[in-house]
Amino acid sequence: MIQKPKGTKDILQTESYKWQYIENTVSNILTNYGYKEIRTPVFENTELFQRGVGDTTDVVQKEMYTFDDKGGRSITLRPEGTAGVVRAYIENGMSSMPSPVKVWYNMAMYRYENVQKGRLREFHQIGAEVLGSSSYLVDVETIIMASDIFKKLNIPNIELNINSIGCPTCREKYQNALKEFIRPNLEKYCDTCKSRFERNPMRILDCKEKTCKELNKGAPIILDYLCEECKTHFENVKQMLTNLGIEYKIDPEIVRGLDYYTKTVFEFISKNEGYTVLAGGRYDGLVKELGGQDTPALGFAMGLERLIETFEKYNANNIIPVNKPQVYIANIGDNANVYATKLVHELRMAGIYAEKDITGKSINAQFKYANKIGAKYVITIGDDELSKNEAGIKNMDNGETKKIFLNAEDILKNI
Ligand code: ATP
Ligand code: MG
Repeated sequence: MIQKPKGTKDILQTESYKWQYIENTVSNILTNYGYKEIRTPVFENTELFQRGVGDTTDVVQKEMYTFDDKGGRSITLRPEGTAGVVRAYIENGMSSMPSPVKVWYNMAMYRYENVQKGRLREFHQIGAEVLGSSSYLVDVETIIMASDIFKKLNIPNIELNINSIGCPTCREKYQNALKEFIRPNLEKYCDTCKSRFERNPMRILDCKEKTCKELNKGAPIILDYLCEECKTHFENVKQMLTNLGIEYKIDPEIVRGLDYYTKTVFEFISKNEGYTVLAGGRYDGLVKELGGQDTPALGFAMGLERLIETFEKYNANNIIPVNKPQVYIANIGDNANVYATKLVHELRMAGIYAEKDITGKSINAQFKYANKIGAKYVITIGDDELSKNEAGIKNMDNGETKKIFLNAEDILKNI
């Protein structure tokens, strides 16, 4: 038997309702904050991610699904959403749209990762991006919106961690200090870290190797090196969050896995699961880096698989309303079969979830099936009912049966 590729999952029809519930809840929240949905291609030119995500990141160095297409172009399955959104922003001239531009997406992502709990090779992210404002108010509004998602989904024990990773100006001073700290031990770091030492030493702080993590203890922190502008920005964010009663922790170790971040970065961590569910930050340099006008921006992405896993921990199985048929039309005999087919069609056209047998089941098997799928009403039609133009309709909740005329209009009145 051919099995699914490692790190992928089937979302079965028996569980997709949870996805739909969560996706609808999240998209309603985003819509109320003024976001509109964007959809970008599953694959992009590889260069977009090399430049956009950064070629010293784990994602680009180790995790991308990259191949040459038949025309010899290097193509990559998107490992994240922001680079594609920014490309679309530039390519479609969105800078002339009313600013800020707020877009959200729900898209599958592809990363060649070590598969483990909460880490797949095909996974899904809902993300949101605001382009066109450098104000700290964007940072605050986005963090509030993200925390609304957990509140609305009734997911407790989520901790908000924030940090500022400054701008290119303050980073230069910091990176020098960081290099001085690392240099004496550089030989003990892993090869990836060594290769990042000159080009992007901050990446070393994000290394997942145990030895490197140990060596990083006591490293200087960027917060001590912020320039005036970045410092004020971060103070404003913290002050406003405090004023609004949003709890947060400052974690100077958050550097984020993607290169494009500046200033505020944040993560919403599930304390029980021990993983980050939602992460994001400001990326003021990315639009320009990818060839657009200088445009400040901020965004986040949340892992849907992780969000659903945590949701399930705290919400009982029956919390999501399951769609069940309103009517099941059981039938015996050829004429009744034709009439039942016509009736379910009319009910469905009227917007009703109606079912009838299409497998040739006996009448008893039809009743059993109607029960199993949780039909609210069952109507039974045979030759007798057809000739009288009347049938019984049974309310499956209380077992009561009523007589109705055998047409869609009368059925609609009685269900
Ligand atoms: P980490 O440092 O843990 O690898 P990251 O920086 O790669 O995280 P992002 O790219 O910011 O993570 O992704 C945002 C969110 O998407 C994560 O917080 C997580 O919920 C989800 N996510 C990322 N990678 C995966 C994956 N391989 N499988 C499932 N979900 C993922
Ligand atoms: Mg990662």
